[in-house]
Amino acid sequence: MAMDAKTVTEIANAGIAFVATVRIPGGGETVVVPSNSVVEYVADPQGFAARHFGVSKEQYLLWVEMDGMPQCGATTKNGPRCKNGVSGGSQRSIEEWLRLDGGYCAVHGGDGANTR
Ligand SMILES: [Zn+2]
Repeated sequence: MAMDAKTVTEIANAGIAFVATVRIPGGGETVVVPSNSVVEYVADPQGFAARHFGVSKEQYLLWVEMDGMPQCGATTKNGPRCKNGVSGGSQRSIEEWLRLDGGYCAVHGGDGANTR
């Protein structure tokens, strides 16, 4: 069933607000959906969430899939990218995740290396 923007506007004008829970690492985050974005949200919740966080949809989906764990940017001896997380744990904010993704795990010289 296609969303009817006119109906949404009538609902909003009656004082009803729209709130959604978008997926984030470790759970969900409650976001207010402006009435003029309800149709857009229903059509593409993940796209809306990505715009909410100010990132691309690919970045948003990967952030959730990786549970907010930045991935080591080193390549292993055999070629593929190292699957270890950057030191410091998962469930980072998306800003932190974007900044740290491609850094190094403890094995490849990141924080925590040589401290054990
Ligand atoms: Zn590594």
